Amino acid sequence: MRQVKKLFTAIACIAIASTGLAAFSTVTNAQTKIVQTQSVNQATYKKPKYIFTFIGDGMSYVQLNAAQVYQSAMKSSNIELSKLAITQFPVVGSATTQDSTSFCPDSASTATAISSGIKTHSGVIGLGIDKKTAPESITEKLKEEGYKIGIVSSVSIDHATPAAFYAHVASRKSMYDIALQLAESDFDYFAGGGLVQPTGANGDQKDAYEIIKEKGYNIVNTKEDILSLNNNSGKTYAISPELQDSKAMYYDLDAQNTSIRLKDFVQKGIDVLDNEDGFFMMVEGGKIDWAGHANDAMANIQDTIALDEAVKVAMEFAKKHPEETLIVVTGDHETGGMSIGQATTGYDTAFNLLSHQKMTYVEFDNLIKDYKKEVAVGNKKGTIEEVFPLIQENFGLISPNDAEVAKNSALVLTDYEYNKLVSAFEETMKAKEIRSTGVEVEILYGGYEPLSITLTHILNNKAGIGWTSYAHTGVPVPVYTMGTGAEIFNGSYDNTDIFNKMVELCKLN
Ligand SMILES: [Zn+2]
Repeated sequence: MRQVKKLFTAIACIAIASTGLAAFSTVTNAQTKIVQTQSVNQATYKKPKYIFTFIGDGMSYVQLNAAQVYQSAMKSSNIELSKLAITQFPVVGSATTQDSTSFCPDSASTATAISSGIKTHSGVIGLGIDKKTAPESITEKLKEEGYKIGIVSSVSIDHATPAAFYAHVASRKSMYDIALQLAESDFDYFAGGGLVQPTGANGDQKDAYEIIKEKGYNIVNTKEDILSLNNNSGKTYAISPELQDSKAMYYDLDAQNTSIRLKDFVQKGIDVLDNEDGFFMMVEGGKIDWAGHANDAMANIQDTIALDEAVKVAMEFAKKHPEETLIVVTGDHETGGMSIGQATTGYDTAFNLLSHQKMTYVEFDNLIKDYKKEVAVGNKKGTIEEVFPLIQENFGLISPNDAEVAKNSALVLTDYEYNKLVSAFEETMKAKEIRSTGVEVEILYGGYEPLSITLTHILNNKAGIGWTSYAHTGVPVPVYTMGTGAEIFNGSYDNTDIFNKMVELCKLN
């Protein structure tokens, strides 16, 4: 069966290739026409008064479609996509993401490309290749035009992506300098995570939160204060009352029902920023990337859906201002080399299995940390059998030695998977200094807690999801747009053109 499919694919490719060649001149002519039509239209584009730019960090086509496949699999076994709001936008473009140093770029350089239209080194925020020249970002340009500016992120607000919209620093690691530039920006609304280095890398600097307050910002970090933000709140920095790892908001999978979500920060941003001269809001779903690094598909999918929920808030606003609102949704790069389909599942997927995962790798790491403490004081023995109830409860996976094997065969570990898990458990139980090293260990665990990452790998693989990296990859990202001037984002281009197109649309220079 597989061979027949492969042969068919090969024939289809040849057919497409030859048709493509024959049609080449026609396409070129058609493209010329499209370009001509676009430049005519551009003159008639109305300048958008309200601009939303959503960036899914580490989010490309695969992450978006994985979320859709998951939503579908939870509804029925039919092969029908349950679509996100994002992928139903009327216009879609495609952007390449390489920076001046790599085809697998980082968020600092790619966010700089989007915010400022230039290529720079990985790790550099808002500065050119010389690490000195500071281009004027879209946010700075629009601020001069009278727009109010909002910057929202589910990770710390001094992280690379948000920082590229308000700071200029040679290294993304200079988070204290970034915080000082936030204070100086005079932008109107910051929201999401906290600051990683409020008193500097060595903890000996003046508290950046104090400096931000001195610059006239109202800092709020309780649910009550956040929910009461409004048009009279003035310059605001709203910090999620619940922070998880590295001053980021909780993964959506780990958040409580009562938690403030990314969508709430977008709604509050609208409440604070709405004014006669318009606003620009950048919203980052930053933990899609972190889940990609950690090869945790369920965390990745839930945060992608959380970004989609945040986009829906902007769409509701756009309904009230249909002739004046532009919404752009893109990614900065792909993370993890995620695939739908993987080596052991062939043409099948079973994304519904992912729903057995109840927490992200971060929270499971914490459970294991607690377990190790129990072992250290002699309350537990430190065996895989002892840990298996935790594994089954939080990942659904069933030991081949368990009596439940007959009930849910899809979740029973094969001998291959069970042996992998035992090896990972043994590594996890070792002190960090005496853990195994080498290429194989790097490929297996990527620097993460061996047990947790092996669990996500096994569950993801059973569902039909593969990962090829613990870092960023070089695949292009989609650019979905709707509203005023959306058509200008049609086609295939470089990520710097996202900035160029906005500049053109807003008649800035
Ligand atoms: Zn990343």
